[in-house]
Amino acid sequence: MSTLFISDLHLDGSKPETINLFHEFIRCEAFTSEHLYILGDLFEAWIGDDDDNPEYRRIIQTLRKLTDGGIPVSVMRGNRDFLMADKFARDTGCTLLDDPTLIDLYGTPTLLMHGDSLCTDDTEHMAYRQVVLNPQWQQQILSKPIEERRDMALEIRAISNVSKQSKTDEIMDVNLDMVNNTMLENNVTQLIHGHTHRPNIHETDLNGKACRRMVLGDWHGSHGSVLRCDSKGCQLDSYAGVIA
Ligand code: MN
Repeated sequence: MSTLFISDLHLDGSKPETINLFHEFIRCEAFTSEHLYILGDLFEAWIGDDDDNPEYRRIIQTLRKLTDGGIPVSVMRGNRDFLMADKFARDTGCTLLDDPTLIDLYGTPTLLMHGDSLCTDDTEHMAYRQVVLNPQWQQQILSKPIEERRDMALEIRAISNVSKQSKTDEIMDVNLDMVNNTMLENNVTQLIHGHTHRPNIHETDLNGKACRRMVLGDWHGSHGSVLRCDSKGCQLDSYAGVIA
């Protein structure tokens, strides 16, 4: 039995292949796992728990089946689904996690993050976070009709796509000083995050201690990414389903 970590699926009705892969992953992998962690950006855009988007409803039902089957599922909000709230948690049976969250992973204290708060070189994204994580701003958005929120999400995505093109890869990656300080402040030697879409396991030395940062990959088309951990260690793999 292993603990599974995934993130950045960016699920959306326009990506049926990725949605199918997710349903397959839950059915064929997650049901035999010990715990599933989803570390942000499960959805391409979450405009409120009251959204009746049929694709999203099916995803909620799939997660519900898993939690009803006795598998704990913990979900962290990312920079695209930061509006996930209590109703989502009730409907799915998932637990919502704060960013960051500290867990005990087979005896190793491990910090879980979405990862975007580590990308401090991207000042534009930091400014965006300041706005969208403000509870008053969120309340104001959630009080708007669902259609208006849907249009806003499309606008935000279009702006973000344009601005990404003008940013270098370095700017959009994590800031390593920020990573080190976060690990020291939280007194951990192990960090798991997503967001950057650069799957990798980085082994470093921090103040004489061996440290490990495991970065989850994104899901696109019929390709996914999963980190599997058990008492023997962790392995980061691409996931293409059992049918492929
Ligand atoms: Mn993200």
